[in-house]
Amino acid sequence: MNFNSHTDLVVAVVVQLVNALTAGEARGRPYTPPQGEELAAAVTGILRPRPPREVSVAEAAELTAYAQEFRAVFEAVAAGDVDAAAERVNRLLAETDARPHLARHDGEPWHLHFHGPNGTFAADWAAGCATGLAVVLGGEFHDRLGVCTAPRCDRVFVDTSRNGTRRFCSTACQNRVKTAAFRARRA
Ligand SMILES: [Zn+2]
Repeated sequence: MNFNSHTDLVVAVVVQLVNALTAGEARGRPYTPPQGEELAAAVTGILRPRPPREVSVAEAAELTAYAQEFRAVFEAVAAGDVDAAAERVNRLLAETDARPHLARHDGEPWHLHFHGPNGTFAADWAAGCATGLAVVLGGEFHDRLGVCTAPRCDRVFVDTSRNGTRRFCSTACQNRVKTAAFRARRA
């Protein structure tokens, strides 16, 4: 199952940004995002192969604020409140001044960009991310954004399984829950 190759790519980036940049719990442990240079390196790694340069600490911090907004979209969908998710995405599209235009560069074929004319680096990326989320929410698979249902984990995921039954952020969480259920049955 996929939306289209570009949307798949963008939504995968959104998932990675939310999971790396927002505090909470991950696979059974408290999670604190990296700070400063480490944060910048993490964001550079996620956005690779774009941008062709290192992301600055300030840019990474700005993207962290957007990552909180993206998380709220996943949480709303997971709670069954698609209306709230859609409102948030619309606000993000307006805030980031997202607007589609065709671009061709670096030897690539024509493809859509979504950033506004005067955005910052982070706002440009956020515009693309918000557009990816909008494509998902506006389509048949609008309920495919999820938050891990394992205990002590709140990492997000996009469910690309055929029948849309994914519940966990990772096989690590799936195995934790299976093991706990197995122990409970034996006890
Ligand atoms: Zn998890």
